[in-house]
Amino acid sequence: TKKAIIIGSGIAGLATAIRIRNQGFEVAVYESNMYPGGKLTELDQQGYRFDCGPSLFTMPQFIENLFIESGRSIKDYFQYSKKEVICNYFYEDGTRFTAFADIDKFAKEATSVFDTDMKSIQKYLKKSKSKYDLTSSLFLENSLHKLSTYLTTDTIKAIANLASLDLNKSLHEFNSGVFEDSRLVQFFDRFATYNGSSPYLTPGIMSMIPHLEQGYGTFFPKGGMYSITRSLYQLAIDLGVTFHFETKVDQILVRHKRALGVRIGDLVKESDLVVSNMDIVPTYKKLLPDQKAPKKVLSQNRSSSALIFYWGIRKEFPEMDLHNIFFSKNYKEEFEYIFDKKQVFDDPTVYINISSKNEKADAPDGCENWFVMINVPGNEGQEWDEILRTAKENILKKVSRLLHVDIEPLIETEEILDPRSIESKTQSFQGSLYGSSSNNKYAAFLRHPNFSRKIQNLYFCGGSVHPGGGIPLCLLSGKIVSELVKKDFT
Ligand code: FAD
Repeated sequence: TKKAIIIGSGIAGLATAIRIRNQGFEVAVYESNMYPGGKLTELDQQGYRFDCGPSLFTMPQFIENLFIESGRSIKDYFQYSKKEVICNYFYEDGTRFTAFADIDKFAKEATSVFDTDMKSIQKYLKKSKSKYDLTSSLFLENSLHKLSTYLTTDTIKAIANLASLDLNKSLHEFNSGVFEDSRLVQFFDRFATYNGSSPYLTPGIMSMIPHLEQGYGTFFPKGGMYSITRSLYQLAIDLGVTFHFETKVDQILVRHKRALGVRIGDLVKESDLVVSNMDIVPTYKKLLPDQKAPKKVLSQNRSSSALIFYWGIRKEFPEMDLHNIFFSKNYKEEFEYIFDKKQVFDDPTVYINISSKNEKADAPDGCENWFVMINVPGNEGQEWDEILRTAKENILKKVSRLLHVDIEPLIETEEILDPRSIESKTQSFQGSLYGSSSNNKYAAFLRHPNFSRKIQNLYFCGGSVHPGGGIPLCLLSGKIVSELVKKDFT
């Protein structure tokens, strides 16, 4: 039997392990933490349970496929339900907007709250769908880089210039060209943050992202987001994948341009192939110190990171739902702070996720578990302790103002995650959430491929490589790697 080694048990590492195991490989996963999941973990504190990382669940079919392909019934492992309300929005001028999943209901609500009409909304969402349909199979579901060996620079440029993809303007320019109401523009601009980018820099093609929410829907996993990790880990175990926790891989062993296995301290573990689920930057820096690194790819700007307060709140807020956004008054300045000044704006957009809205057991009776997050720059040695203190004050002021309730006295428990701890807990370079940012139109072509061009039998999965960050794309990276492995080994 051929042996495969996977470095890291993030969501992409788990998906890759499952798929390669299904091809008959003996699969061993080495994970430096005591637990699987990487960024997708959970936290228990004084009667409150929190999902630590991802909170928005889209494209459940990518998870479903893993169970189908493994010949298992998903119901035995994982259940989820569709959300009717996607997100509640609060603006500084007092506007409140509920984004419904049902498109007609969404458009009706939008026309009653914003200065717009049904037709404009429906047209925007239709265009969002067509952009997704046009590009998903080329950009997301395949190894773009195997393809791009056949694509010349001219062809890539031609694709980038297709007017219908809106690559030559920013998402904000695109949205401002469609809608006049600045509140609605801000609503559609926000989708840039789904891959950690700025709406003022990321290209207009990102207007396909609303289609993921409105077209495919948003979902909630029974038991919270952590059930995704738990169920994939259990599936991998049931299929016979072996896991080694608290085992940090120190080096990928290469001889004659071929990956031979890994080194863990003094131990050598041999294998026929190696997949790294570690962020691509430290993979080269730490695990492949003797190999020439692809400088251009690795020097891409990173996506944003996050500052998160996990608060146990001694009160219930009926005006909030699972996902809630409290918008900044000056969105442009907020993103300039994140991507130019590499600092934190004093009126940040605040995202509050409350899983106890769906999963009562996540908080004591009459209480709520608030996951309070703002987007911040990656860790470049800023004064995080001071930033944290100021950010907390600003967040409390803003949320208290918009909810008309003093929040601070209601906080029963507190935990904090910042770019430093995201980096140290998951090895993500600078603590970025989604690998490199999509702040330019060639970003899709500049992500690292899912294989090594120089070293045979070495593959890469996860949010820092093609096709990108976020659970759905990480799962797709696992699929692409398994397809490459299948081709290379049969
Ligand atoms: P990671 O989760 O980065 O895990 C990598 C694993 O590899 C870690 O467990 C690490 O310990 C291990 N590892 C690294 N190096 C080594 C080594 N040398 N030896 C052994 N093990 C090693 N996505 C969404 O879809 N929706 C959201 O709402 C969302 N919100 C987010 C909010 C936050 C706060 C964060 C942090 C992320 C969010 N994301 C969201 C992004 C999403 O979490 C990530 O894209 C995804 O989980 C990354 O998975 P991954 O497979 O790349 O690996």
